[in-house]
Amino acid sequence: MPSHTIEEPARHVPLYGEYEVAVLGGGPAGIAAAVAAARAGRRALLIERYGFLGGMGTAAGVTNFCGLHANVHGQMHRVVQGVASDLLARIDRLGGLNAPHLILGKILAQAYDTAAYKIAADDLLGTHKVEILFHALGAGVVMHDMRRIKALMVETKAGRRAVTADIFIDCSGDGDLAAWAGARYEVGDNQGSMLYPSMMFRLNNIDPDRAGEAWRTIPALMEKAQAAGTHRFPRKGAIVRPQRSQIEWRVNFTQLAREDGSAINGLEPEDLTRGEIEGRRQAVDAFNFLRTVPGFEKSYIVDLPPQLGIRETRRVIGGYMLSGEDVLGCASFDDSIGVNGWPMETHVAGDVVFKFPPIPESRGFNELPYRMLIPEAIDNLLVAGRCASMTHNGQSAARVSGACFAMGEAAGTAAALALDGNAAPRDIAVGKLQDRLKGQGAFLGRDQQVPEGL
Ligand SMILES: Cc1cc2nc3c(=O)[nH]c(=O)nc-3n(C[C@H](O)[C@H](O)[C@H](O)COP(=O)(O)OP(=O)(O)OC[C@H]3O[C@@H](n4cnc5c(N)ncnc54)[C@H](O)[C@@H]3O)c2cc1C
Repeated sequence: MPSHTIEEPARHVPLYGEYEVAVLGGGPAGIAAAVAAARAGRRALLIERYGFLGGMGTAAGVTNFCGLHANVHGQMHRVVQGVASDLLARIDRLGGLNAPHLILGKILAQAYDTAAYKIAADDLLGTHKVEILFHALGAGVVMHDMRRIKALMVETKAGRRAVTADIFIDCSGDGDLAAWAGARYEVGDNQGSMLYPSMMFRLNNIDPDRAGEAWRTIPALMEKAQAAGTHRFPRKGAIVRPQRSQIEWRVNFTQLAREDGSAINGLEPEDLTRGEIEGRRQAVDAFNFLRTVPGFEKSYIVDLPPQLGIRETRRVIGGYMLSGEDVLGCASFDDSIGVNGWPMETHVAGDVVFKFPPIPESRGFNELPYRMLIPEAIDNLLVAGRCASMTHNGQSAARVSGACFAMGEAAGTAAALALDGNAAPRDIAVGKLQDRLKGQGAFLGRDQQVPEGL
């Protein structure tokens, strides 16, 4: 708490609208949540601070879906379907989707073009009659009482507005709404460090023939350059891979720390300011090194995204916290609402450490329990995406897009079911939710056949 404060007079805030379901945040979780609620016939509003959807996937230039697939006993399968499939098909129709590519020889990821993602997401939400409010920053809540949220307050160019809803879904990635409502949460590893953020960027004008499979050779070239003292890198494990047009490559190379070496905290404005500036500086450093790689000599930075990429901040505590052991042990849950096939991917100081379930011995995915989406002590709130109920290690895996789509679709569907039965989301019949999700094409693990194909 700062030592000096200014008292703000109470004021009457205009009502923007009354909804059945209000979703804060338009990343993978928010997109899927809003579409699922609207598909179930509910009047849904999605509120997003930027003027486009996609969350970190577009706003932080991620340009790559992880967690859509699982390595099931050595065979690759697309285990996240449902709303995600609908979105991917739209991105593909725009010519913006790469074929899946292999990561570390063990798991698939799938790159996309950010412009196509934004357009496809607008189209998907429009088709399902989701109302969207862009350029609106969620800024606080007004409660009915300790357990129920009455209104979400948003700051817009027209001033502060209030949005009321029967059920709210926090897909802000940072657990903003849940925190304002008084839900308990954890931050990072509880010892002051979080997964380190990165500033992504993309290069253009690469000679694809000369660059070849440079993603294989770049890590060794970095070690050589570092040993020779010509360059210093903020982390190992750099990812530099082609986009759909082979002259354009994405670069995931940077790591942003405070002066004391701990991770930039994505909840602190001073940290974010430092992270943005230092991120762009590191991008230039990385670019200067990459221009020494064959095929990259004439490249240039074509895009620095609107914001620094934040991997982890608040994780809201719910009825169950998905753990690293659950990920590595391919855990099952009676109340499964989807699955995660991505390994633990911890961004620690100076490095990125992957830990996979045993391959090919294991089925390669864990189930995601519905309880992850239900925060303690607030009755009309669900939380989905990277701020859902997971431990620091569990979140290092299930924070990626695939699991966020699955959680979002489950949260939106659950909100509609809760409204059908006039119940709190925590009290709905989970079997009914599971049947609805399966009917929408989702794969929940359990007794279901693993979907074929990629
Ligand atoms: C550098 C980096 C690289 C990554 N690489 C990959 C990868 O290759 N593949 C992969 O699948 N995942 C990757 N991830 C992880 C993945 O992008 C995110 O974890 C995922 O997007 C989380 O989805 P989400 O919907 O929970 O939240 P987010 O994507 O964070 O979306 C949250 C949305 O809420 C909005 N928002 C937040 N607060 C407010 C507010 N108060 N008011 C209004 N709007 C608000 C934000 O603008 C944003 O649009 C990466 C992440 C980073 C940072």
